[in-house]
Amino acid sequence: MMCLSEEQQILRTSIKDFVKRYVVPGLNEIKNDRFPRDILRELGKNGFFNVMIPGFGVQDSYSYSLIVEELASASPSLAWLYVTHVAAAYALSRMGSEDQKSQYIEKMADGRLLATIAITEPASGATASAVQTKAEFDGKAWVINGSKTFITMASDADAFIIMARSDSEKPAFTDFILRSDDRGVSRSASLKGSGMPGIGWGEIFLENVETGQDRVLGNRNEGIKIIPTIAKVFTIGAASISLGIMDVLNANALEHIRERKINGSSLSSFQVVQDRYLHMYTNGQAASALIYRAAINDDIKLAYAAKVFATEKAIENAVTASRLFGANGYERSVGIASYIDDALAVPLHFINNDVLTGLFMNSV
Ligand SMILES: Cc1cc2nc3c(=O)[nH]c(=O)nc-3n(C[C@H](O)[C@H](O)[C@H](O)COP(=O)(O)OP(=O)(O)OC[C@H]3O[C@@H](n4cnc5c(N)ncnc54)[C@H](O)[C@@H]3O)c2cc1C
Repeated sequence: MMCLSEEQQILRTSIKDFVKRYVVPGLNEIKNDRFPRDILRELGKNGFFNVMIPGFGVQDSYSYSLIVEELASASPSLAWLYVTHVAAAYALSRMGSEDQKSQYIEKMADGRLLATIAITEPASGATASAVQTKAEFDGKAWVINGSKTFITMASDADAFIIMARSDSEKPAFTDFILRSDDRGVSRSASLKGSGMPGIGWGEIFLENVETGQDRVLGNRNEGIKIIPTIAKVFTIGAASISLGIMDVLNANALEHIRERKINGSSLSSFQVVQDRYLHMYTNGQAASALIYRAAINDDIKLAYAAKVFATEKAIENAVTASRLFGANGYERSVGIASYIDDALAVPLHFINNDVLTGLFMNSV
C-alpha cells in the first residue's frame, strides 16, 4: 500500500465499515442474481460516488481505486456496478451541457438515479466504430433505431448513455442520454453470465425513439470521444476489481495452505505449494503497485498497462487458488472456483484488453 493521506485513511476505514454494514448482509442475494439497488443507493447516500464526479468530491483516482478494491474483495459484482455507474456519471460531468449536469449529476451522485453506458451491439462487439444503431435528425428531432447487448444494469438503470451512427455518408457517431421511460426504449435482463451475478445484464431495444437536441451528450458526430473520456475510470476501475479479487483469494489461500494438514504436515510445507503461493502473492503486489502508481499520477498509459496486467493475473490467481483448495474449493458453498468466472469477465469489458492495446500504443 502506497502512502495514504489522512483523508484517504478515513475513506478506507469508512468503506471497510460500509462493506461490513451493508454489503456482507446482502451477499447471498447478489450471488442469487438479485440486483443490489438498495446497496447502490446507500453507496450514494454515504458519498462514495462523489470521488470521481467533478464538483462533488476531491477528484482522486487513488481513493476511487481503494473503494473499488474494497468492494470487489467482498463482492466483485457490486464493484462492477459501482465502476459502471461512476463511469456514466464521469462521462456526463465531462461531456454534458450545464442543463444536463444539473438534471442528472446530483441524482447520480447520491444514487437516486442509476446510469450505464451502452455501446456494445450484437454486430459490433469489441469494436465501437462498428456500431450499427442509427440516429437520424429530421430537422426537429432525432429518431434512434437499433439495439444494444451485454449491457450491465440493463434491468435497472434509469438512464442509458448510448452511442449511435449519426451520419449516413461517413462513419461518425453521436452519444445520447436516454431514459428507461422514453417512448420506444425497452429492455430485457435475460442474459445470465457464468460469473458476476446480480449485475442486471441484458439488452436494450430502441425503436423509433424520438429525442431532442437536449439529449445529445457532447458534440454531434464526436461520440467516439466517450471512449478516451472514460478510459481512466474504466481501466483503473477494472484493474481494481481484479485486485480486490486477488486480495480475497490470496488471503484465503494463505490461510488454507497453513491450516490444512495431510499426514500431520500443512500444505504450505510442500515446495510446489510454496511456489504457487509465491506467484499469487507476487501477482497481487505487482498489480497493486501498478494500479496505485497509475492512479496517484493519473497516468493513462500506466492505467492501460495496469488493466491488462491485473485482469490477466487475477484469472491466474483464481485458477491457482482453486488448485490449492482442491475439491474443498470446488464445493459451491466455499465458492473459490466461482472467482474464476468473475475474473474471466473483467478483461472482456471496460475496454476489451485486446482492443486496449491500440489506445496504449497511442499513449506511450
Ligand atoms: C459481464 C459483462 C458486462 C458488460 N457490460 C457492458 C456494458 O455495460 N456496456 C457495453 O457497452 N458493453 C458491455 N459489455 C460488452 C463488452 O464490452 C464486450 O463483451 C466487449 O466489447 C467484447 O465484445 P464481444 O464480447 O462481442 O466480443 P467480440 O467483438 O466478438 O470479440 C471477441 C474477441 O475477439 C477479439 N477482438 C474483437 N475485436 C477486436 C479488435 N478490434 N481488435 C483486437 N481484438 C479484437 C478480442 O479478443 C475479443 O475478446 C459487457 C460484457 C460483459 C462480459
